[in-house]
Amino acid sequence: MQKDDALRRLRDPGRVLPEKQTLLSNIAAQAEALRMPCYIVGGFVRDLLLGAPINDLDIVVEGDAITLGKKLVETYGGKLTPHFKFHTAIWHIPATFNLQPATLDLITARKETYERPGVLPTVTPATLEDDLRRRDFPMNSMAIRLDGEHFGELLDPLHGTLDLENKLIRVLHAQSFMDDPTRIFRAIRYQLRYAFNLEPATLSLINAESLSTLAKLSGERIRHELDLIFEEERAAEIMRQLNQLGVVTRIYSALPDFNPSYDEVLEMDATLDVPANRISLGYILWFVNLTEDEIFAIAARLGFSNEQTLDVWSAAQLKRSLPYLLGSKPSEWAYALEKLPLLSIYAIYLISGEKALLDYISFWRHVKPYTTGEQLKAQGLAPGPRFGEILGQLRTAWLDGALSSKTQEEALLQRLIAETNCS
Ligand code: ATP
Repeated sequence: MQKDDALRRLRDPGRVLPEKQTLLSNIAAQAEALRMPCYIVGGFVRDLLLGAPINDLDIVVEGDAITLGKKLVETYGGKLTPHFKFHTAIWHIPATFNLQPATLDLITARKETYERPGVLPTVTPATLEDDLRRRDFPMNSMAIRLDGEHFGELLDPLHGTLDLENKLIRVLHAQSFMDDPTRIFRAIRYQLRYAFNLEPATLSLINAESLSTLAKLSGERIRHELDLIFEEERAAEIMRQLNQLGVVTRIYSALPDFNPSYDEVLEMDATLDVPANRISLGYILWFVNLTEDEIFAIAARLGFSNEQTLDVWSAAQLKRSLPYLLGSKPSEWAYALEKLPLLSIYAIYLISGEKALLDYISFWRHVKPYTTGEQLKAQGLAPGPRFGEILGQLRTAWLDGALSSKTQEEALLQRLIAETNCS
C-alpha cells in the first residue's frame, strides 16, 4: 500500500461519497483558517485503505476541538454540543450537507493513563501521535491530515498499513488488554469481520491475567461490546471464538455458549412486520434455554433494560411451552401469544420453524371482527365484561375458520346477543 494512496482514495467518489468529500474539504478549510492541524482517524482510515464500506467519521485536532466546532457552526450552521471537561464536541451537521449520520465527533488529541486495570483512564491533551498511541490496534491508529496543503497525508507511525497488508491484528503494547479488556472483544470482532489473524504475541496476551480483569468491567461496557458483536454479520462465529478463548465465562460464570447452530438464524426478515433488532435477537438466542433465575441474574450482570429482559424471558417461556401448543387451533395460538413481544415469537419461529408462529406474526394477530364495541352499544347491550367476551367469540370464530363473511358474522352476533338477553 502506497502512502499517497490515501489522497487518491479520499478523492474517489466511489469510496467517499461526494457529500462526505464536501464535508471534509469544509472542515479542512476551517482548520486551516485556525492554523489547527486536523485529522480523520480510526475506522474511517482503516476502511478507506481496505476498500471496505465506510461508516462514521472521527476528527482529531491538535488544538481545541471546541474552537473548531464553533467555527464550523459559525460558517456552515448546525449546532454544537461541547463537552468542556474532555475538550470534545459533537457537531450536528446542517441538513444542507445531506449526510447520514448527521453528527460528527470532534476530539482534541489526548493522552490516556490507566491507574488500574479495567477502569476508565485519566485523559490529558497531547499530540496526534500520543492520541494514536492510546488506541487499540495499529490498524485503528492511522490518521489522514485534512488542514490546508496537508490534505490527504497519511500518518502511520505505528505501522497500521503493514498490518492491513499482512492481515494482522496486533495490540500496541503488552499491557493493552490489561488496561482495557474490552479490546479483547474488539480484536475478535475485527478478526472475523476482515478474516484477519491475531498476531501470535497478541493472542498470547489473552491469558489468565488479562481475562481476570473482565470480571471488573461494568455491565454497560461489556454490553456495548456484545451489542457491536451482534450487529456483525459473523456474530455467531465471533461468539464461538470468544467462548473458545475462555472470555465468555470470565465475564460471568453462568454465561452459556452461544449455540453455533444459530449462526444461520441470526437474521431479521425485512418482509415480516417485526421490529428489526438484531442485537436483542442475539441475546434472545443466546439465553433462550436458561431458567428464569439464570436469565434474571445475567440480565443484572449485563445491565439489561426491562424491555430486553422481557424479550429474553418471554422467548424462554415460549420455547418451553411450545410442545404443549403444538396442534392447537389458531385462536388458541393467538391467545397464548398475544401478550408476548413479537421479537420473542419471531426468535422462537427461527429456531423451531413452527409455522403457526409465522402465521400468527403475519396473519392471525391482525384478525379482528367487523363488529365494534360501539355497534354492540347501538344494539342495546350495556358495556361490561360481556362486551369483551362477545368480541372475543367473534374473533375466535374468524381465526378458526368458522366465519368467512360479514353476513355470517352478523348472524353469529345476533345469536350471541340473544343468548346474553336470555341469561
Ligand atoms: P467499527 O465501528 O467499524 O467497529 P471504528 O474504528 O469506527 O470501527 P469505534 O468503536 O467507533 O470503532 O472506535 C473509534 C476508534 O476509537 C477506533 O478506531 C480506535 O482507534 C479507538 N478505540 C475504540 N475503542 C477503543 C478501545 N477500547 N481502546 C483503544 N482505542 C479504542
